[in-house]
Amino acid sequence: MKRTRVRFAPSPTGPLHMGGVRTALYNYLIAKKEGGDFILRIEDTDSHRFVPGAEEYIIESLRWCGIEPDEGLDENGKVAESVSARNPHAPYRQSQRRSIYRKYAEQLVSGGFAYYAFDSAAELEKARAEAESEGRTFIYNAATRSSLRNSLTLSGAETERLIAERDDWTIRFRMPENETVEMDDLIRGHIEVNSSTLDDKVLWKRADELPTYHLANIVDDHLMEITKVIRGEEWLPSLPLHYLLYAAFGWERPEFAHLPLLLKPVGNGKLSKRDGDKMGFPVFPLKWTAADGTESRGYREDGYFPDAFVNLLAMLGWNPGTEQEIFSMEQLIQAFSLDKVGKSGAKFNPDKAKWFNKEYLRMRSDRELAAAWMPVLAAEGVAADENTVLEIVALIKERATFVSDFWNIAWYLFKAPEEYVEKDAAKFWKEENVRMAHQALESTGSVEEMEEYIRAMEWPMGKVMNCIRLALTGSSSGLGIAEIIRFIGREEALMRFRRAEERLIV
Ligand code: GLU
Repeated sequence: MKRTRVRFAPSPTGPLHMGGVRTALYNYLIAKKEGGDFILRIEDTDSHRFVPGAEEYIIESLRWCGIEPDEGLDENGKVAESVSARNPHAPYRQSQRRSIYRKYAEQLVSGGFAYYAFDSAAELEKARAEAESEGRTFIYNAATRSSLRNSLTLSGAETERLIAERDDWTIRFRMPENETVEMDDLIRGHIEVNSSTLDDKVLWKRADELPTYHLANIVDDHLMEITKVIRGEEWLPSLPLHYLLYAAFGWERPEFAHLPLLLKPVGNGKLSKRDGDKMGFPVFPLKWTAADGTESRGYREDGYFPDAFVNLLAMLGWNPGTEQEIFSMEQLIQAFSLDKVGKSGAKFNPDKAKWFNKEYLRMRSDRELAAAWMPVLAAEGVAADENTVLEIVALIKERATFVSDFWNIAWYLFKAPEEYVEKDAAKFWKEENVRMAHQALESTGSVEEMEEYIRAMEWPMGKVMNCIRLALTGSSSGLGIAEIIRFIGREEALMRFRRAEERLIV
């Protein structure tokens, strides 16, 4: 059996979408499960779409998720540019492999699988407009190529001359006419497409001496000995061409798996940044600031744990076939398989994403959570010793989804309220209740005694307690009164109550 080799081949055109991270994750899981290699390759042959910083963003995102490439990065964590034991196929950035591709494109021309095309942009535009005026769509293929300017219609001498003189020619794939391309996909099964519906895609461009995605992708997958191509569904329409390219080169094909799309929480369509902005969730792993200053939120900065993020991504499209939802990376590696990946799009549910983080927060040790919270407390100007913080964390972690919730849940354990929620005060700060609460607090030493006292007096427990809570926390919600008083102490509780009596008018 051949060693499994998979690759994640992003284009550095902006921040990596969470769907892209999922593609990387599924590749990684298959590599690890099958004891193979996970390769990172940067597909940057489209220089118009290159975005500075995107490559670094991709690498940092993968690192944050714990998806470490076996090949493709050097010892400094940058995209490998030279060959080493770990990186035998370097460079891993296609723009640096530019010299490799031309000969493969020309090999296809010699074999009759491709040809030189000299049509200028203006000529193609004209052909397009003409077709449109007749109600047709223009496709550069067997139906039209004989009336266009290319090495199939021009003489050998003319072709030679144009190749030498012009710098805007391309090499196009010669798509066969009316052939059934039969394909197999590990997720979608058997697929057939008639080649006449496809066009003569450009494979190589003289203008920038670069291959297009299709040629570079096939050549590199071959040279890098990729055995399985696992990528997003948006690449399925390219699969017939890729099959035909492998056949034309006479190379062994990898297996293919096209992953289902991530869909919007409501309605149909691909999950987009706009959905996230509208509904308040990130669609990117890390925060990203675009060149124009627009900021996009990231899961990391929103307070998600990387393992929770990985877990929730794994479940978007893959169904383990059991009730289990919480999986560590190790467990995912064990359980994951492509045959349990669905064909239909996976609807993203932002509440479920939060649920995952809540579960992971509960599983974190108090010590770890306290360590994560200490800097937040310091920033709030609160000096708290570790043991106190540990105790509080144990008390509140069940109520929190993110570490950033801790402060909102428990700030009043560190300082007295400056304000009181108006509607809670209107509801609970009633003269009668305040008088009873005051007396109960002043006449007893502990919360147990106080409760007993209130019961003995046959006062309304809820009303009295809510009055006290309002004085201690500034609102009618929060931790149990016994817990609050245990942390702040009886003296502080009395002080807060008296302050509320001064500040709140009954
Ligand atoms: N560069 C392509 C992308 O950005 C890779 C597609 C593939 O994996 O073949 O998604």
